[in-house]
Amino acid sequence: MSWTTQQRVGDTTVTSLTDGHFRLDGGAMFGTVPKVLWNDLNPADELNRISLRINPLLIQLDGRNILVETGFWDQGGDKFENMYALDRDETVFRGLNDVGLSPDDIHIVINTHLHFDHAGRNVTPAGDPTFPNARYVVQKQELHDARHAHERSRASYIAGYIEPIADAGLFDLVEGEGEIVPGVSVLPLPGHNLGQQGVVLRSGGDTLVYTADLIATTAHVPYAYVMGYDLYPVTCLEMRKKYLPQWYEEGAIICPPHDPAVAFARLQEAKRGFKLEALE
Ligand SMILES: [Zn+2]
Repeated sequence: MSWTTQQRVGDTTVTSLTDGHFRLDGGAMFGTVPKVLWNDLNPADELNRISLRINPLLIQLDGRNILVETGFWDQGGDKFENMYALDRDETVFRGLNDVGLSPDDIHIVINTHLHFDHAGRNVTPAGDPTFPNARYVVQKQELHDARHAHERSRASYIAGYIEPIADAGLFDLVEGEGEIVPGVSVLPLPGHNLGQQGVVLRSGGDTLVYTADLIATTAHVPYAYVMGYDLYPVTCLEMRKKYLPQWYEEGAIICPPHDPAVAFARLQEAKRGFKLEALE
Protein backbone atom coordinates (compact mmCIF):
# COMPACT_ATOMS: atom_id res chain seq x y z
CA MET A 1 0.00 0.00 0.00
CA SER A 2 1.25 3.46 -0.85
CA TRP A 3 0.86 6.41 1.51
CA THR A 4 2.07 8.91 -1.06
CA THR A 5 -0.27 11.89 -1.38
CA GLN A 6 0.02 15.06 -3.41
CA GLN A 7 -1.05 18.63 -2.88
CA ARG A 8 -0.95 21.75 -5.03
CA VAL A 9 0.59 24.80 -3.41
CA GLY A 10 0.06 27.67 -5.85
CA ASP A 11 1.93 26.61 -9.01
CA THR A 12 3.91 23.89 -7.24
CA THR A 13 3.23 20.20 -6.68
CA VAL A 14 4.32 18.78 -3.36
CA THR A 15 4.28 15.07 -2.53
CA SER A 16 4.15 13.65 0.96
CA LEU A 17 6.27 10.51 1.12
CA THR A 18 6.42 8.03 3.96
CA ASP A 19 9.35 6.07 5.32
CA GLY A 20 7.28 3.74 7.47
CA HIS A 21 5.73 3.74 10.93
CA PHE A 22 7.43 3.62 14.33
CA ARG A 23 6.47 3.92 17.97
CA LEU A 24 7.62 6.21 20.78
CA ASP A 25 6.65 6.42 24.43
CA GLY A 26 3.32 8.28 24.62
CA GLY A 27 4.23 10.03 27.86
CA ALA A 28 7.44 11.37 26.35
CA MET A 29 5.57 12.52 23.23
CA PHE A 30 3.06 14.56 25.27
CA GLY A 31 5.32 15.93 28.01
CA THR A 32 3.33 17.23 30.96
CA VAL A 33 -0.06 16.46 29.40
CA PRO A 34 -1.70 13.60 31.35
CA LYS A 35 -2.45 10.32 29.60
CA VAL A 36 -6.17 10.68 30.32
CA LEU A 37 -6.12 13.56 27.84
CA TRP A 38 -3.74 12.32 25.11
CA ASN A 39 -4.74 8.67 25.05
CA ASP A 40 -8.01 9.50 23.26
CA LEU A 41 -6.08 11.35 20.55
CA ASN A 42 -3.49 8.66 19.98
CA PRO A 43 -4.11 5.42 21.93
CA ALA A 44 -1.08 3.77 23.53
CA ASP A 45 -0.09 0.10 23.09
CA GLU A 46 0.66 -2.29 26.00
CA LEU A 47 4.15 -0.76 26.30
CA ASN A 48 2.66 2.75 26.44
CA ARG A 49 3.94 3.57 22.95
CA ILE A 50 1.99 5.51 20.35
CA SER A 51 2.05 5.06 16.59
CA LEU A 52 3.89 7.64 14.52
CA ARG A 53 4.87 7.89 10.88
CA ILE A 54 7.91 9.36 9.15
CA ASN A 55 6.66 11.86 6.56
CA PRO A 56 9.37 13.28 4.27
CA LEU A 57 8.19 15.86 1.72
CA LEU A 58 9.12 16.26 -1.94
CA ILE A 59 8.87 19.78 -3.42
CA GLN A 60 9.15 19.99 -7.21
CA LEU A 61 9.77 23.57 -8.25
CA ASP A 62 11.31 25.08 -11.41
CA GLY A 63 12.86 21.77 -12.45
CA ARG A 64 14.39 21.11 -9.04
CA ASN A 65 13.55 18.18 -6.79
CA ILE A 66 13.84 19.15 -3.14
CA LEU A 67 13.54 16.43 -0.50
CA VAL A 68 12.73 17.52 3.05
CA GLU A 69 13.94 14.78 5.45
CA THR A 70 15.50 11.53 4.26
CA GLY A 71 13.91 8.98 6.61
CA PHE A 72 14.56 6.66 9.54
CA TRP A 73 18.02 5.16 10.08
CA ASP A 74 18.12 1.69 8.56
CA GLN A 75 21.29 0.31 10.12
CA GLY A 76 20.33 0.11 13.76
CA GLY A 77 19.90 -3.66 13.85
CA ASP A 78 17.09 -5.75 15.32
CA LYS A 79 17.30 -4.44 18.89
CA PHE A 80 17.08 -0.82 17.74
CA GLU A 81 14.27 -1.52 15.30
CA ASN A 82 12.27 -3.52 17.88
CA MET A 83 12.62 -0.77 20.46
CA TYR A 84 11.03 1.68 18.03
CA ALA A 85 8.71 -0.93 16.49
CA LEU A 86 9.93 0.19 13.10
CA ASP A 87 7.52 -0.98 10.41
CA ARG A 88 8.78 -0.38 6.90
CA ASP A 89 5.31 -0.61 5.39
CA GLU A 90 6.48 2.10 2.99
CA THR A 91 9.84 3.63 2.12
CA VAL A 92 10.94 6.99 0.85
CA PHE A 93 12.44 5.20 -2.17
CA ARG A 94 9.14 3.61 -3.21
CA GLY A 95 7.47 6.97 -2.79
CA LEU A 96 10.03 8.66 -5.04
CA ASN A 97 9.58 5.83 -7.53
CA ASP A 98 5.81 6.49 -7.50
CA VAL A 99 6.51 9.92 -8.98
CA GLY A 100 9.14 8.66 -11.40
CA LEU A 101 12.24 9.70 -9.46
CA SER A 102 15.32 7.89 -8.18
CA PRO A 103 17.69 9.11 -5.45
CA ASP A 104 20.00 10.42 -8.20
CA ASP A 105 17.30 12.89 -9.24
CA ILE A 106 17.25 14.80 -5.93
CA HIS A 107 18.98 18.19 -6.23
CA ILE A 108 18.56 19.43 -2.66
CA VAL A 109 18.02 17.62 0.64
CA ILE A 110 16.85 19.71 3.57
CA ASN A 111 17.58 18.12 6.95
CA THR A 112 15.28 19.88 9.44
CA HIS A 113 17.61 18.47 12.08
CA LEU A 114 19.94 15.49 12.35
CA HIS A 115 17.95 13.10 14.58
CA PHE A 116 17.95 9.52 13.31
CA ASP A 117 14.21 9.53 12.53
CA HIS A 118 14.64 12.53 10.20
CA ALA A 119 18.12 12.32 8.65
CA GLY A 120 18.75 8.59 9.03
CA ARG A 121 18.66 7.86 5.31
CA ASN A 122 21.24 10.53 4.44
CA VAL A 123 23.67 7.67 3.85
CA THR A 124 23.26 4.21 2.29
CA PRO A 125 24.11 0.98 4.16
CA ALA A 126 27.39 1.00 2.19
CA GLY A 127 28.26 4.37 3.75
CA ASP A 128 27.77 6.50 0.64
CA PRO A 129 25.54 9.56 0.29
CA THR A 130 22.05 8.26 -0.58
CA PHE A 131 21.40 11.32 -2.74
CA PRO A 132 24.80 11.77 -4.39
CA ASN A 133 23.80 14.70 -6.60
CA ALA A 134 22.22 16.70 -3.79
CA ARG A 135 23.44 19.39 -1.47
CA TYR A 136 22.31 18.65 2.10
CA VAL A 137 21.05 21.82 3.81
CA VAL A 138 21.29 21.92 7.60
CA GLN A 139 21.75 24.62 10.22
CA LYS A 140 25.40 25.09 11.21
CA GLN A 141 24.27 25.00 14.85
CA GLU A 142 22.67 21.58 14.37
CA LEU A 143 25.76 19.98 12.84
CA HIS A 144 27.81 21.39 15.70
CA ASP A 145 25.37 20.11 18.33
CA ALA A 146 25.18 16.66 16.71
CA ARG A 147 28.95 16.44 16.94
CA HIS A 148 29.01 17.69 20.53
CA ALA A 149 26.05 15.79 21.94
CA HIS A 150 25.59 15.44 25.70
CA GLU A 151 23.90 12.83 27.86
CA ARG A 152 20.41 14.25 27.18
CA SER A 153 20.81 14.46 23.38
CA ARG A 154 23.28 11.71 22.48
CA ALA A 155 20.74 8.94 21.80
CA SER A 156 19.20 10.99 18.97
CA TYR A 157 22.33 11.24 16.80
CA ILE A 158 24.40 8.61 15.02
CA ALA A 159 27.62 9.60 13.27
CA GLY A 160 27.07 6.95 10.58
CA TYR A 161 24.61 9.07 8.59
CA ILE A 162 26.27 12.44 9.34
CA GLU A 163 30.04 12.20 8.84
CA PRO A 164 29.99 10.61 5.34
CA ILE A 165 28.00 13.64 4.15
CA ALA A 166 30.51 15.98 5.75
CA ASP A 167 33.44 13.95 4.32
CA ALA A 168 31.92 14.19 0.84
CA GLY A 169 31.60 17.97 1.25
CA LEU A 170 27.86 17.82 0.62
CA PHE A 171 26.58 19.81 3.61
CA ASP A 172 25.41 23.38 2.97
CA LEU A 173 25.47 24.98 6.40
CA VAL A 174 22.90 27.70 6.97
CA GLU A 175 22.86 30.20 9.82
CA GLY A 176 19.35 31.36 10.61
CA GLU A 177 16.70 32.10 8.02
CA GLY A 178 17.66 31.59 4.39
CA GLU A 179 16.26 31.21 0.91
CA ILE A 180 17.30 27.87 -0.57
CA VAL A 181 15.78 28.48 -4.02
CA PRO A 182 13.29 31.20 -4.95
CA GLY A 183 10.07 30.27 -3.12
CA VAL A 184 11.63 27.83 -0.65
CA SER A 185 13.20 29.03 2.60
CA VAL A 186 14.34 27.54 5.86
CA LEU A 187 13.16 29.02 9.14
CA PRO A 188 14.84 28.40 12.49
CA LEU A 189 12.39 26.68 14.87
CA PRO A 190 14.40 26.07 18.04
CA GLY A 191 12.95 24.32 21.06
CA HIS A 192 13.06 20.62 20.15
CA ASN A 193 16.77 21.40 20.01
CA LEU A 194 18.69 24.59 19.21
CA GLY A 195 19.41 24.00 15.53
CA GLN A 196 16.09 22.77 14.18
CA GLN A 197 14.70 24.44 11.05
CA GLY A 198 11.31 24.33 9.35
CA VAL A 199 10.74 24.73 5.62
CA VAL A 200 8.45 27.33 4.07
CA LEU A 201 7.22 27.11 0.47
CA ARG A 202 5.52 30.14 -1.08
CA SER A 203 4.05 29.69 -4.54
CA GLY A 204 1.32 31.52 -6.45
CA GLY A 205 -0.03 33.19 -3.30
CA ASP A 206 -0.19 29.95 -1.30
CA THR A 207 2.01 28.92 1.63
CA LEU A 208 3.06 25.53 2.96
CA VAL A 209 5.02 25.03 6.18
CA TYR A 210 6.91 21.86 7.08
CA THR A 211 7.02 22.34 10.83
CA ALA A 212 9.69 19.80 11.81
CA ASP A 213 9.18 18.62 15.39
CA LEU A 214 7.75 21.96 16.55
CA ILE A 215 4.42 20.36 15.58
CA ALA A 216 5.19 16.63 15.39
CA THR A 217 1.59 15.49 14.80
CA THR A 218 -1.82 17.11 14.37
CA ALA A 219 -2.38 16.45 18.10
CA HIS A 220 0.55 18.70 19.03
CA VAL A 221 -1.00 22.07 18.21
CA PRO A 222 -2.36 23.18 21.61
CA TYR A 223 0.28 25.51 23.03
CA ALA A 224 0.89 23.38 26.13
CA TYR A 225 1.24 20.09 24.23
CA VAL A 226 5.03 20.26 24.25
CA MET A 227 6.99 17.01 24.03
CA GLY A 228 9.08 15.57 26.84
CA TYR A 229 11.74 15.04 24.17
CA ASP A 230 12.08 18.80 23.62
CA LEU A 231 15.32 20.15 25.09
CA TYR A 232 13.94 23.70 25.47
CA PRO A 233 10.19 23.38 26.13
CA VAL A 234 9.54 27.06 26.87
CA THR A 235 11.22 27.97 23.57
CA CYS A 236 8.79 25.58 21.83
CA LEU A 237 5.94 27.47 23.46
CA GLU A 238 7.38 30.81 22.32
CA MET A 239 7.85 29.58 18.74
CA ARG A 240 4.25 28.32 18.61
CA LYS A 241 2.93 31.62 19.95
CA LYS A 242 5.01 33.51 17.41
CA TYR A 243 4.23 31.46 14.31
CA LEU A 244 0.86 29.68 14.66
CA PRO A 245 -1.16 32.94 14.44
CA GLN A 246 0.92 34.01 11.39
CA TRP A 247 0.46 30.67 9.64
CA TYR A 248 -3.25 30.75 10.45
CA GLU A 249 -3.60 34.27 8.97
CA GLU A 250 -1.77 33.13 5.84
CA GLY A 251 -4.02 30.05 5.52
CA ALA A 252 -0.85 27.98 5.30
CA ILE A 253 -0.93 24.26 4.62
CA ILE A 254 0.81 22.59 7.57
CA CYS A 255 2.87 19.37 7.26
CA PRO A 256 3.61 17.63 10.57
CA PRO A 257 6.55 15.22 10.20
CA HIS A 258 5.20 12.39 12.39
CA ASP A 259 1.43 12.33 12.10
CA PRO A 260 0.44 8.65 11.77
CA ALA A 261 -2.27 9.40 9.18
CA VAL A 262 -2.28 13.04 8.07
CA ALA A 263 0.17 14.57 5.60
CA PHE A 264 -1.43 17.96 4.97
CA ALA A 265 -3.57 20.00 7.35
CA ARG A 266 -4.81 23.54 7.96
CA LEU A 267 -5.02 25.51 11.20
CA GLN A 268 -8.45 26.32 12.64
CA GLU A 269 -9.19 28.51 15.62
CA ALA A 270 -9.91 26.53 18.78
CA LYS A 271 -10.86 27.33 22.36
CA ARG A 272 -7.29 27.94 23.44
CA GLY A 273 -5.27 28.66 20.34
CA PHE A 274 -5.56 26.42 17.31
CA LYS A 275 -6.28 22.91 16.08
CA LEU A 276 -5.26 21.17 12.86
CA GLU A 277 -7.76 19.75 10.40
CA ALA A 278 -6.69 17.30 7.75
CA LEU A 279 -6.96 18.34 4.10
CA GLU A 280 -8.68 15.85 1.83
ZN1 LIG B 1 11.23 13.49 15.05
